[in-house]
Amino acid sequence: MAKLIRRNIPSVDRILRSAPGAALAAAHGRGAVLAAVRDDVDRLRASLQDRGDASVERIAARVAAELESAAQASLRPVFNLTGTILHTNLGRALLPREAVEAIGAVAAQAVSLEYNLEAGRRGERDRHLEGLLVGLTGAERATVVNNNAAALLLALNTLALRREVVVSRGELVEIGGEFRLPEIMRRAGCKLVEVGTTNRTHARDYAEAIGPRTALVMKVHPSNYRIVGFAKAVDEKPLAALAHQRGLPLLSDLGSGALLDLRRWGLPRERTAAEAIAAGADLVTFSGDKLLGGPQAGIIAGRAELVARINRNALKRALRLDKLRIAALGAVLRLYADPDRLAARLPALRLMSRPLAEIEQLARRLLPAVSRALAGRAAVTIEGCESEAGSGSLPEERIASAALEIRPGAGVEKLARAWRALPVPVIGRIHDGALVLDLRCLEDDAGFLAQLDRLSA
Ligand SMILES: *Cc1c(COP(=O)(O)O)cnc(C)c1O
Repeated sequence: MAKLIRRNIPSVDRILRSAPGAALAAAHGRGAVLAAVRDDVDRLRASLQDRGDASVERIAARVAAELESAAQASLRPVFNLTGTILHTNLGRALLPREAVEAIGAVAAQAVSLEYNLEAGRRGERDRHLEGLLVGLTGAERATVVNNNAAALLLALNTLALRREVVVSRGELVEIGGEFRLPEIMRRAGCKLVEVGTTNRTHARDYAEAIGPRTALVMKVHPSNYRIVGFAKAVDEKPLAALAHQRGLPLLSDLGSGALLDLRRWGLPRERTAAEAIAAGADLVTFSGDKLLGGPQAGIIAGRAELVARINRNALKRALRLDKLRIAALGAVLRLYADPDRLAARLPALRLMSRPLAEIEQLARRLLPAVSRALAGRAAVTIEGCESEAGSGSLPEERIASAALEIRPGAGVEKLARAWRALPVPVIGRIHDGALVLDLRCLEDDAGFLAQLDRLSA
């Protein structure tokens, strides 16, 4: 290795005028290339190491790598092999083709977002979704905002500002991240009145807590936990009867928001929005990107007079959906009109109900290639595992699945990092010294296999 001396370093100008320099400028713009070349040359001057590092070709290659990495978006597609189907950190529900096409159709065009084409004047943004939601929930009216947290904030702020909301102690949930029901309630300007105990709440507890300052009775789906044993909660029906007797509305936060009975697809029963409304809930709220399988959104459905008040709240404007998500959610809701084909078309449902035999077959197909790519570094086996719906949906349900278990001699963290460094990062879970890749959510096996050779490199 010949030591680098200053006068061997080419000038910035010479690098830019070279063929590789010109190609870089054409790809990334002259300004960005100039700045990156200057930085590289400065580093060479400061370190003065290997003379080979200072060739025009080597400098251009380093600058190209740096500019390419800087140009890459940080929001990237990944393989979600964590076994959590609706993974909040990985973007929850995958949209069906119909929704992706609907986004594409409106993205680069002017659209009739708030324009009534028949009358030739201003129209309503909610009109695109309200009819679909009313049809699917049996509510009188419906509206949609940014997510379910926003739906709750808006509903609580509209119906109970500076007044009391009665909630069972067994339902004061923390969903993860920053979502805690008592905090949302405070931010909405409401006073939380807790009733009952952690494990047992009776109708009489609500009855005793309702007073002149009460504005609302609220029920919350305990999404990510369950109180078992000596437990009691009050269902919507008696709770609605009690609230109505005292002249109050009942708000039910359903969390995941199933629109159809999931038992049809071999999944556990989950109360649907239509059932909650039929049982007497005056308003329900739920997420668009959990069991419903659509884009991030929060749906509010219920009595016409209450939805009208919500729509008049100035906060609604700050929380509303844009045209892209309206297009996507509309496309997803339209798929529900044909339940027979829903599992084939809606990825969230398709992945949750994917047969174990199909996943095991996939595992057997992938095993030889993965073993080969990691030969001498890790042992790869097929193991049974359990997937979960995720995002607090169907919290007790474990869905039998199959995984590739990759057990290195040592350094499972390093192994996991190598999988994450692939062009389409592979995210698994680490369990007991092994990297576990749950194959339930792997549908693009060709794409998965195509990048394995980089793992051996
Ligand atoms: C998930 C969940 C929320 C929050 O919904 P986002 O759409 O994530 O804002 C609120 N309440 C319950 C019961 C939930 O399960």
